[in-house]
Amino acid sequence: MKKLLLSILALLLVLGIGAYLFQGPITLGLMDRLVATRMSTSLLDQLPDGLNVVLCGAGSPLPDPERSGPCTAIVAGEHLFLIDSGSNSSRILTQLQLPHGEIDGILITHFHSDHIDGLGEMLLQAWIGSARTQPMPVYGPVGVEEIVEGLNRVYSQDRIYRTAHHGEDIAPSSGAGAVPRPFSQPAPGEARVIFDDDELRITAFSVLHEPVEPAVGYRFDYKGRSVVVSGDTRKSKNLENFAQGTDLLIHEALSRELVGVMTMGAEKAGQTNLAKITKDILDYHASPVEAAESASAAGADHLLFYHIVPPLLISPMEALFVEGVSDAYDGPFTVGRDGTLISLPAGSDEITVEQLL
Ligand SMILES: [Zn+2]
Ligand SMILES: [Zn+2]
Repeated sequence: MKKLLLSILALLLVLGIGAYLFQGPITLGLMDRLVATRMSTSLLDQLPDGLNVVLCGAGSPLPDPERSGPCTAIVAGEHLFLIDSGSNSSRILTQLQLPHGEIDGILITHFHSDHIDGLGEMLLQAWIGSARTQPMPVYGPVGVEEIVEGLNRVYSQDRIYRTAHHGEDIAPSSGAGAVPRPFSQPAPGEARVIFDDDELRITAFSVLHEPVEPAVGYRFDYKGRSVVVSGDTRKSKNLENFAQGTDLLIHEALSRELVGVMTMGAEKAGQTNLAKITKDILDYHASPVEAAESASAAGADHLLFYHIVPPLLISPMEALFVEGVSDAYDGPFTVGRDGTLISLPAGSDEITVEQLL
């Protein structure tokens, strides 16, 4: 018995020393398999025909480990559109295995920095990711052309290096950067159809985010299913009208109670600028209960919160964030995080929710 134990110990020791000595080759072998699997998999192959929404950024300008800057990916059949591209959203897209090269266009809701400050990286990845020969269309209210021209200028040196280094086949000079697709801000009640190919229709409508103007939300209709994305807005009757009967309302939300705690903390710490800012932001966002009231008024079947303010750093904060939501809205709701996937398969009433990250 003693001999057997000694032999097992000796064997374990040999295995341990072997693993230590060969940890480099073992790691490289694992990495080889992991990289091959990741690079050959696309989330697009796993989604049903219909409307699929993936949050590539569920947060706001405030840092939240689970929520990057605002970005919503919408997959409708063969199409992949993004709405806004906040900080870190391009990297989240990579983690989600949503190929940048497949993006058809990026829609901007308004020009607050948190909605556009991931655009440079997103455009670069989309260009190199598929050897695009045409620049990426970036849709938005009038003013988007300034953003696009500015970004194209910022990256004008980089694009030359990339083509020089990788060649025209990999980085075609004609496909770098973006091309603006501006539309005039729709008046309240007015719909601006910005994309329509008989199957997928994307409509822009105005929302309320003063002093930020223009500011729009978007509605996607595809094979009898629909999704409405609020952009940044306080409670908006116009949004409720455009969201009538939608399957899924994706609405921004700010908890005044939780932000109030931040304000008190900032005041106590003598951070007067921060205290002023946290007070100012209260008037141009909707509270979770107001978003729920809009979902109820629109008759939406599901409500997804995104652009969540403040960061929900510990789980009890989430319960406080949604306090009162169930009283204002009968339907199911989801507090979004990076990687929240909601699928609306065509030809059904089904709504499935998954967390991919
Ligand atoms: Zn914002
Ligand atoms: Zn904003």
